[in-house]
Amino acid sequence: MLTTPDLLLTKGYVFDIHRFSIHDGPGIRTTIFLKGCPLSCVWCHNPESQSTKPEKIVRVSRCIKCGACVEVCPVHGISINDSRVVTDLSRCTVCGTCVEVCATEASEIVGEETSAADLAQLIQRDRIFYDESGGGVTFSGGEPLVQVKFLQTVMASVHTMGIQTALDTCGYAHWEAFLKVLPFTDLILFDIKVLDDQKHKQFTGVSNQLILDNLQKLNQQGKKIWLRFPVIPGINDDVDNLTEIVDLAKMYSHIERLSLLPYHKAAVKKYEGLGLNYCLDDIESPSETRMDELAGWFQQSGLPAVVGG
Ligand code: SF4
Ligand code: SF4
Repeated sequence: MLTTPDLLLTKGYVFDIHRFSIHDGPGIRTTIFLKGCPLSCVWCHNPESQSTKPEKIVRVSRCIKCGACVEVCPVHGISINDSRVVTDLSRCTVCGTCVEVCATEASEIVGEETSAADLAQLIQRDRIFYDESGGGVTFSGGEPLVQVKFLQTVMASVHTMGIQTALDTCGYAHWEAFLKVLPFTDLILFDIKVLDDQKHKQFTGVSNQLILDNLQKLNQQGKKIWLRFPVIPGINDDVDNLTEIVDLAKMYSHIERLSLLPYHKAAVKKYEGLGLNYCLDDIESPSETRMDELAGWFQQSGLPAVVGG
């Protein structure tokens, strides 16, 4: 039983909130993006999610190189090199002073501490839309289980209000963390990327063994699961990987859907803003025709595949 102090005192870091989303589960939803991820997928479209703490980012296209931020940074962590603003993140204390003086809103702090009470209240605000559409709230990231105490507190609170919940997970977490939130979870959105373990390590930084073990356990728990497969041309859309996904999905009776998510390059600017390298420059997004072709292939193989969602 949650008490008001539990909700007020339990705090976590959120880096984005999408209201009225029609992705990330059924109906109209609020998707909450929590900071922190144990993976570092080379195609990650939310690189600002990977660190557990707030970070400074510069939207390069908005920066007019006025130098105002350079002047005010108390740790002298900003310089303009080759006509670009560069932040030395090893010095940055995320004080936000540079954000305050930036006239074009190019500087931004990504990630904000919030209480479970405030987040639960925000989620509840759109309840009428969830009820009308069969929607609810989705907790995403990053990997939301990285902040399991915060996640558990918010999920328990909104679930008690009768709001449907979905957990969008990469699957890489201790089973005990899953057990803490499963009583308050109606749907699991479970990412499956590459089944060859060597390739998985190469492209995400970790083995997929724990992920596959957790998928099996979630199925045993009888939880409704939607698998999500990010289609990265040339990396995981080969016949071997696709066939292994079919074989895996057919083993588990609680997998209701396979969502195919096309790779896109929208995150390139975020990498630039965080001072990170983006190493998939040569890869193009799959065409609509290719995505439809893949969905058809999975459907013929007996899986309820859809593009998106
Ligand atoms: S204050 Fe803003 S616009 Fe000016 S140099 Fe810094 S980031 Fe760019
Ligand atoms: S957030 Fe503070 S410490 Fe970090 S770059 Fe900006 S002014 Fe400097």
